[in-house]
Amino acid sequence: DSLSSGSAARLVQTLRMAGVGKLRVAVIGAGAAGLCAARHLLARRDIFAPPVVYELTERVGGTWVYEDRVGTDENGLPVHSSMYRDLRTNIPKEVMAFPDFPFDTHLSSFVHHTEVRRYLEKYCEHFRLREHIKFRTLVDAVKPVGAPTGWRGLAWDVTVTNSLRQKESVTERFDAVMVCNGHFYDPYIPPIPGLENFKGTLMHSHDYRCAEPLAGKSVVLLGAGLSGLDIAVELSKVDAQVTLSHGNRPLTCRLPPGVRQAPSVEKVLPDGALQFRDGELARPEVFLLCTGYNFTYPFLAAAPELGLRVQDHLVTPLYKFLLHPAYPSLFIVGICRAICPFPHFHCQTQYVLSVLDGSCPLPSREEMEREMTAEIESRRRRGIATRHILKLDSEQWDYNDELAQLAGFPPLPPYWKRLYEANKAFRAQDLLNYKTYSYAVLNKREWTVQRPQPEQQ
Ligand code: FAD
Repeated sequence: DSLSSGSAARLVQTLRMAGVGKLRVAVIGAGAAGLCAARHLLARRDIFAPPVVYELTERVGGTWVYEDRVGTDENGLPVHSSMYRDLRTNIPKEVMAFPDFPFDTHLSSFVHHTEVRRYLEKYCEHFRLREHIKFRTLVDAVKPVGAPTGWRGLAWDVTVTNSLRQKESVTERFDAVMVCNGHFYDPYIPPIPGLENFKGTLMHSHDYRCAEPLAGKSVVLLGAGLSGLDIAVELSKVDAQVTLSHGNRPLTCRLPPGVRQAPSVEKVLPDGALQFRDGELARPEVFLLCTGYNFTYPFLAAAPELGLRVQDHLVTPLYKFLLHPAYPSLFIVGICRAICPFPHFHCQTQYVLSVLDGSCPLPSREEMEREMTAEIESRRRRGIATRHILKLDSEQWDYNDELAQLAGFPPLPPYWKRLYEANKAFRAQDLLNYKTYSYAVLNKREWTVQRPQPEQQ
């Protein structure tokens, strides 16, 4: 009461500068999504306190931190990365990059995974993110505190195990949580009847590192997604005999020598033979599952009141596939599939910040729930199976633009969509060579592609 209005304003300013009154956001994971979240939070120091990024390993980059080993790490935790030794990106660097941070110009369009890791490290250094990351810190539990009456009445308790070796448990309170824990690390094993009868080597692509151990072997590779196709190409180079088994329409592009297609594996017979859907049998030495990953949020098990469900590869309830309608200060970033990940994280993160700073008001909880249900139903009506609902594919561009429009940040330049979609078409036509193409962006609208002469390939 005794403060004059001028000194009150000065006090408020001093408190804000000291970080009091600013929103505290916890970020779980220092992969591409978590780094992107931290970069944008730090750019808004007027509203947000510096973020706290929890990262269970001692490095940034998440899945881009290649590990030779498989199974568990030195702390008994499952190895996170699913990278394989010779992986080159399947998206050209010209559109894979965060829009505000290009890859080095001297690199080819399809870079080796080590270059992506280097790129993410540079991003981290450039935006001075490292000092905000608590490494070797596992998030064990995230719990809302307060009633679900919109995010302003809510806080979040985040319990972590600090320094994995000492197992010290600490709880910190935040205004919001951005979950960026990735979704390519917990292998999905399809429920194939009789799978336990298989007598050869059964493995998942999460544990595939290089082709040599499979040289000359007969392999049934189940799944023709990006990893399945990539690994089939690698295996053909070491003379493996590969049956590429999948439930999609037969691929029409040229396949590598030694790779043939078959329908999905329907069951495994008691004698260990794999039976395909057309009745044909195979007795391969290796059965390699390239069947994708589960969405896993063990730390949210501490909060059953959230009612978060992961069923058939769909995570609900999430408005815009991103925020919890009843607890709208909990964000799960980057769960959409068949997208251009880094630019997608860039758009989602800026939308999240606009929701939190109040510049992008949310509809009521009921309206968000209605919209979310309508979106899922409309996808189902279009014949999209539940397990594919999170695959945005070509719809990602409208999704990103909508977030930009709602939150008032610049949309991705127009060439992004056209170059990305062109690469997708080239990949479908020319699986064996598309990574030898090189792109150049001429301005914010035009790009060119150069394909090497056959003798250069
Ligand atoms: P991640 O990179 O998985 O990072 C998650 C981080 O969270 C990790 O560092 C992890 O240690 C940490 N974490 C998890 N749980 C906890 C916890 N409880 N407490 C603390 N920390 C935790 N994308 C492309 O753009 N181009 C490509 O060519 C491409 N190829 C790919 C090839 C393969 C084989 C795979 C698996 C993915 C590929 N991707 C590609 C997709 C890639 O996953 C994304 O580009 C992106 O790296 C995902 O980032 P993320 O931050 O969401 O997850």
